[in-house]
Amino acid sequence: MKKFSKFLFFLFLICSAYLPVFSQKIKHVILIGSDGFGAYAFQNAKVPNLRAMMKEGSWSLQARTVLPSSSAANWASMVMGAGPELHGYTTWGSKKPDMPARVLDEYGMFPSVYSLLRKAKPDSEIGVIYEWDGIGYLFPKAAVNKDQNADGDIAVTKVATDYIKEKKPNFLFVHLHDVDSVGHKIGHGTPEYYAAIERTDTHIGTILKSIEDAGIAESTVVLFTADHGGIDKGHGLITMNEMQIPWIIKGPRIIKNQELSQSIMTFDTAATIADLLKLKTPQVWIGRPVKEALK
Ligand SMILES: [Zn+2]
Repeated sequence: MKKFSKFLFFLFLICSAYLPVFSQKIKHVILIGSDGFGAYAFQNAKVPNLRAMMKEGSWSLQARTVLPSSSAANWASMVMGAGPELHGYTTWGSKKPDMPARVLDEYGMFPSVYSLLRKAKPDSEIGVIYEWDGIGYLFPKAAVNKDQNADGDIAVTKVATDYIKEKKPNFLFVHLHDVDSVGHKIGHGTPEYYAAIERTDTHIGTILKSIEDAGIAESTVVLFTADHGGIDKGHGLITMNEMQIPWIIKGPRIIKNQELSQSIMTFDTAATIADLLKLKTPQVWIGRPVKEALK
């Protein structure tokens, strides 16, 4: 009997030693995308929430878009783990593949983080909340629980924070649009553009706070990036202001306060999310997890 209680005691010690590891398990990934947020903006922008994320995590300001440096082509690549040559969304506003997708999943779309997660963990809570209605064509509607197109970034942020607190999604993509709109209307790099960047940073702060309030911060990875930057009043071409996007990640398993030196392409975002959520990726994906950021 004495031996047995000794055994129980050691079992308890071993379990409690491993408990922190288990409690650090990643259960949620929240991807925040800011349309038109060029990496160049970091030089002058007042973005305290994003800078705090960089300090608490790993980051690069040299991640690259696929070409063209346009919205749909890049938003698709970000969740589909491959470029336009494979998924077929080749323009700024593609609503369906402009050429046949190389592979189709069970939803008749190119395989995405959404379909992989739904298949691997059918009970997952999955959401997409977006300002630009073009996002609505870039994911399998039947694979998600929450699909909401909201008007303006304030509304998007409100819907997203309510959803995070209420449903604690396993994967959520939040699309913010203010920065791109101002870039097109007034111009990239203008005081108005930086004002939009600062508003966006405030929304990100609100979303981060809602993750804390939901009580899931310990098990949530947050990833911030953009579809493209811009120059003058547009984007789509090959200047670095258009093609270099921020890539910032924090949470369990993520190395803190580290600038990433290795190459990141926007389709690596999908591969990284799949790695974090332990999803097996299809052969057609060419994205690679950003291992440099991971413990
Ligand atoms: Zn865009």
